[in-house]
Amino acid sequence: MKELTYVRAADAAEAVAAVSADEHATFLGGGTNLVDHLKLGIATPTTLVDVSRLATDEVGPADGPSGPVLRIGAGVRNSDLAAHPLVRSRWPAVARALLAGASGQIRHQATTGGNLLQRTRCVYFQDVTTPCNKREPGSGCSALEGYGRYNALLGASEDCVAVHPSDLAVALVAVDAVVVVLGPDGERRVPVADLHRLPGSHPERDTVLAHGELVTAVELPMTDLTRRSTYVKTRDRASYAFALVSVAVAVELAEDGTLADLRIAWGGVAHKPWRAEAAEALLRGRVPDEELVRQAVDAELGDARPGPDNAYKVAMLRGATALALRDVTAPLAEGASA
Ligand SMILES: Cc1cc2nc3c(=O)[nH]c(=O)nc-3n(C[C@H](O)[C@H](O)[C@H](O)COP(=O)(O)OP(=O)(O)OC[C@H]3O[C@@H](n4cnc5c(N)ncnc54)[C@H](O)[C@@H]3O)c2cc1C
Ligand code: SF4
Repeated sequence: MKELTYVRAADAAEAVAAVSADEHATFLGGGTNLVDHLKLGIATPTTLVDVSRLATDEVGPADGPSGPVLRIGAGVRNSDLAAHPLVRSRWPAVARALLAGASGQIRHQATTGGNLLQRTRCVYFQDVTTPCNKREPGSGCSALEGYGRYNALLGASEDCVAVHPSDLAVALVAVDAVVVVLGPDGERRVPVADLHRLPGSHPERDTVLAHGELVTAVELPMTDLTRRSTYVKTRDRASYAFALVSVAVAVELAEDGTLADLRIAWGGVAHKPWRAEAAEALLRGRVPDEELVRQAVDAELGDARPGPDNAYKVAMLRGATALALRDVTAPLAEGASA
C-alpha cells in the first residue's frame, strides 16, 4: 500500500502554497477522476491537497475585467451548475453539456475545476501495462497502431492522438468562457479556448497551467450571443458514456434569418476542445442550409487525416453540427427567452 498525505486547505492561497512547494503534491477536487487514477497507478502523488471544500461554490453575477460576467466558483458541483436558473436560461449549451456528461451520481460529486482538468480516456493511457507518451513520456504511443476508434481527427502529433473528454469544456469554448487561475505569483485569466494544449512533442502536458496553479473560478461573459446555444453529443449509449463527437454552438440571428454571429466548438476530435473558426467564417452572414453546413464542416476538417477506425467521426460531425445549428435557428417556442 502506498502512503498518501491528505491536506484540507483552509483557503485558495493555502492550497496553492501547499502544491507549489511540493512537486509530488496535487489538487483533489471531487476525486471522480483522480481517485480512479490513484487506484490504477496512473497518478502517483504523495500529497493530496483537497480543494473541494474551499469557499468556491458560489455562482453569481460579477464584474469581470472586460464587463459583466457570471462567475462560477471552481468548487461548484456539476449538477448544481446544470440546474442553476441563470445558466439554464442564458447559457443553455453549458447546462446541456453538463447534463450530457457522466451520471447523476458523478455529476453530484464532480466539480467545475476538476471537470475541465480531467485527463484523457484513451484506453492505453488507462492501461499501465502499455506504452503511452502521456502517462510515461518517451515510452511510445500505443494508439497510433492500435485501437483507433477514439483517435483525434485534428491537431494530433506522432506522439499522441488522444482526445480531450470534458463535455463542459466544449460548451465553455463556444461561449467564450475564461478561467480564473491563482498561482504563487498571483491571479491570471486564461480563455478556456487556450487552456488545453495540442499534444505536440509533450503530450504529458494537458494544459497551459503550471504546477501549483489552481483554477478558482470560471467566468461567462454576459452577451446575448449565448441565449441561442445548444450542445449535441453523440455516444455509444444514450447516457453514461463519453462523446464520440460533440458540438456546441451559440448564434445570434439577424431578422432575415442569417447568422449575424456564431461560435462553434467540437469535442471528441482533438486533444483540446476545437474551436471551428474556419466553419464559423463560412457560415457568418449566411443562412445555414444543409449544403452550406456540410461545406463549413469540411472546410474546418481541411487538414484532418482520419484513419479507417475513426473516419466515422467525419460523418458524425457533419450530422451533429447540422442538428445543433437547426436547433438554435429554429423559431423559439412560445414563452422561451430569446
Ligand atoms: C464512469 C464515468 C463516466 C464519465 N463520463 C463523463 C462524460 O460523459 N463527460 C464528461 O465530461 N466527464 C465524464 N466523466 C468525468 C467526470 O466528469 C470527471 O471525473 C469530473 O468532472 C472530474 O471532476 P472532479 O472534481 O471529480 O475532479 P478530480 O478527480 O478531483 O480532479 C481531476 C483533475 O483536476 C485537478 N483539479 C481538480 N480541481 C482543480 C482546481 N480547482 N484547480 C486545478 N486543478 C484541479 C486534479 O488535480 C486532477 O488532476 C466521467 C467519469 C466517470 C468515472
Ligand atoms: S494517444 Fe496519447 S494518451 Fe493514448 S496511448 Fe498515445 S500517447 Fe498515450
